[in-house]
Amino acid sequence: MVIAQKSQLVVVANRLPVRRVELEDGSTEWATSPGGLVSALSPALQESTDRCWVGWAGSDSTDSTEPFAVDGMKLVPVPVTADELDNHYNGMSNGTLWPLYHDKVGPVEFHRHWFDGYRTVNKRFAEATAEVAESGATVWIQDYQLHMVPGFLRRLRPDLRIGFFLHIPFPPAELFTQLPWRERLAEGMLGADLIGFQTPRGAANFQRVASFLKVATVDGKHRLKHDAREVRLGAYPIGIDASRYENAARSHEIEERSRDLRAGLGNPRTVLLGVDRLDYTKGIDVRLRAFKELLADGVLHPSQVTMVQVAEPSRDQVDAYADLRARVEQLVSEINGDYGRVGFPVVHYIHQSQDFDELMSLYRAADVMLVTPFADGMNLVAKEYVAARYEESGAMVLSEFAGAAHQLSDALTVNPYDIDGVKAAVAEAVNMSPEEQRTRLRALREVVKSTDVSFWVESFLNDLAVTADAV
Ligand code: UDP
Repeated sequence: MVIAQKSQLVVVANRLPVRRVELEDGSTEWATSPGGLVSALSPALQESTDRCWVGWAGSDSTDSTEPFAVDGMKLVPVPVTADELDNHYNGMSNGTLWPLYHDKVGPVEFHRHWFDGYRTVNKRFAEATAEVAESGATVWIQDYQLHMVPGFLRRLRPDLRIGFFLHIPFPPAELFTQLPWRERLAEGMLGADLIGFQTPRGAANFQRVASFLKVATVDGKHRLKHDAREVRLGAYPIGIDASRYENAARSHEIEERSRDLRAGLGNPRTVLLGVDRLDYTKGIDVRLRAFKELLADGVLHPSQVTMVQVAEPSRDQVDAYADLRARVEQLVSEINGDYGRVGFPVVHYIHQSQDFDELMSLYRAADVMLVTPFADGMNLVAKEYVAARYEESGAMVLSEFAGAAHQLSDALTVNPYDIDGVKAAVAEAVNMSPEEQRTRLRALREVVKSTDVSFWVESFLNDLAVTADAV
């Protein structure tokens, strides 16, 4: 692979899609990290000398800016110091933008030194991208950690075609305009030719913000004018690699493991499942409360139902996450204390990251999937469950505030703030007839398969390709 060659397609994301893994002899090497974005984009980037991925290589990396290759993918590292990581990533990205964009479900803090670190890191990402992009290349920048990269990059390289995609919700103007740096962040995004959101509401919110802040003029629906350039907006709901999930679900190993899992749970009539990062946006506490009340009301019986909640550890240095963990674990132990028997807890709580095979086996073992976030860009777990249920059995309770709800209208949609509504939907899911399960899952599966991740990549890049020509 010719590492030094400039690239025609550059993906820019906060993290490179690799991590250091330890080998048996104690040495380490790079391996591709699992994850939706990686599997989505790696086919487009692999074995191609004129395409690359720009990003931070993680805390095990050196300060090198030398491009390198892993699994046939060309990678361009951007160094980030520990101090910058604290301000840019832990601070501004996850302490300001994340909670603000998720309806302030968690506490939002505004700090000028966080923003300074954010701007510095965004500028460095833009400079690294400008270095490796071929003349007239296409650049696709990902997510809320890199809002200002399109603007910086446009100034350095007006010849590029620039796309930006936001994976999390774009908030209503009332929330976004609380940001002390609101113009600079909005203008940063407007450096792109095409800005993609998960839902039409995100695009509409951005359009309103841009016009309210007078950083762009509205030139038609989803069409803005900024700096004498046209900027388009659009909704591109991200999908999953549906066939990978379905094929795995059909495998003998997964089927066997899911049977073992059910047996380990005591072969209950109904297995309820939640799979989330332990994040305050996910509404894990809501579903536990609903489950507890349904047991107390006698609507559900501990001898017949079992709940499994995977809560993948996440951002545990942050106080709000530690508080949530305490709240969730308190609820789990209350439910098990009140309704469990020796050897048969009613909630199986797993505060550990699960690998692909284990998650697949859990999806296969679960009769009812509970997805109840207060706010969520998409929620891939909802789509993964649907893809895994190839024989069209199972039911899903889905928050209307997950991006996925715009597409998966055949799930039982709920308002997670309405505990009685959640209880009613869980009871309905538990008692749903096999015919209704089939009808709903057939419709859900059609959506998940027809709008999979390659559809997402193609639709975004095709639309970017026909935006107004760069200078
Ligand atoms: N996931 C995982 N192991 C776990 C829990 C989750 O690999 O223990 C994966 C899950 O399969 C999904 C992703 O993490 O692909 C979570 O994506 P989602 O959009 O649901 O939520 P996010 O964590 O991005 O907010």
